[in-house]
Amino acid sequence: MLRALLLAAPGAGKGTQGTRLAARYGVPHLATGDMLRAHVADQTELGREAQVYMDRGELVPDDLVVRLAVGRIGAPGAAAGFVLDGFPRTLAQAVNAYEWAKTRDRMFHAVIVLDVPETELVARLVERGRIAGRSDDTEDTIRNRLAVYRAETQPLMDFYDARQILFALDGTGTIDEVASRIEDALVGRGLAPLG
Ligand code: AMP
Repeated sequence: MLRALLLAAPGAGKGTQGTRLAARYGVPHLATGDMLRAHVADQTELGREAQVYMDRGELVPDDLVVRLAVGRIGAPGAAAGFVLDGFPRTLAQAVNAYEWAKTRDRMFHAVIVLDVPETELVARLVERGRIAGRSDDTEDTIRNRLAVYRAETQPLMDFYDARQILFALDGTGTIDEVASRIEDALVGRGLAPLG
């Protein structure tokens, strides 16, 4: 059982670490960015609405993302928990998710922050854009996404810190090193992985 959230800037390793962490605890990895990209690829109405924001490196409106995320964390597949990646990203989303979870006995156990210096983030994202061809990994969009992260997402840290579930960890080093830091922090809180 683990209900965790990864809070980190674009390029800090949320996807990589989120996938690993979810497998380790036997829970689904739920990434709102992936959900939104799937809607864009399928050209759903939601996808068409979201794409405009995503292409500019801006956040998709709260109501749309909250509907998407809460639908998934409330689904039977997430009964044993989840690793949420990329949500919440604004204080309004966090408050909304908190109220939702409180009334359903599904409060988050841990919010993991991965700290990575901005110069390294830009380098990683430019490289990812080159390799994966992600349309929002261009240098201008990257700068905008980092600015959005600073302005909108960092205030969430205070919100979760006040609820005593925040773990701020060093996000630099190898994938294995970061994964061990995350697991150590969770185990220290009594949240043991499978096996
Ligand atoms: P990501 O893959 O997490 O970097 O997300 C890619 C893009 O999807 C972001 O730049 C946003 O435009 C959008 N997005 C993903 N999650 C959220 C969220 N929680 N709130 C608003 N927009 C989001």
